[in-house]
Amino acid sequence: MDTKKIEQAVTDFLIAIGEDPTRPGLVETPDRVARMCQEIFEGINYTNEEIANMFNKTFDITENKNDMVLIKDIDVFSYCEHHLALMYDMKVSVAYIPNKKVLGLSKVARIADMAAKRLQLQEKLGNDIAEIISLASDSKDVAVMIKGCHSCMSARGIKKANATTITTTYTGKFKEDINLQNKFLANLAL
Ligand SMILES: [Zn+2]
Repeated sequence: MDTKKIEQAVTDFLIAIGEDPTRPGLVETPDRVARMCQEIFEGINYTNEEIANMFNKTFDITENKNDMVLIKDIDVFSYCEHHLALMYDMKVSVAYIPNKKVLGLSKVARIADMAAKRLQLQEKLGNDIAEIISLASDSKDVAVMIKGCHSCMSARGIKKANATTITTTYTGKFKEDINLQNKFLANLAL
């Protein structure tokens, strides 16, 4: 990430919107924004494969009961690629059917977090998380549900403050088996 370029772009942006980047409140803003970008867009630095390799700590399980592992309501923040606007109050729920091993629970949360630290669409975020979980766990059977509020919808445009967007991504058995989907949805409601 080119922080010097971000600083210059923020200065130019402030001028473009009619601000004075030399006034006291804004003097350090370009530097602050550049540092913030390194954190909130960290996931842009890595491919899905690289994120999977970072967080692929697994534990072998002897019997494969074919039961799903579900991690519910992981909080993440992301930014919409259409408006660079914050997506907030996001809850990511991930289920997968272990293939002889299970992922460390914190790894699932870290995967969701890192995939969200990109310019995203909620649908694409679900696909990214499903792909990374699949790569890290060796399971082809993954379900992801995301609920989120989009500030490009709540704070501007049609201003629907309470509208929540829900997206689901199913792969493998979750895609083929409607009963498994229903079980996933029922577990989410617990
Ligand atoms: Zn948007």
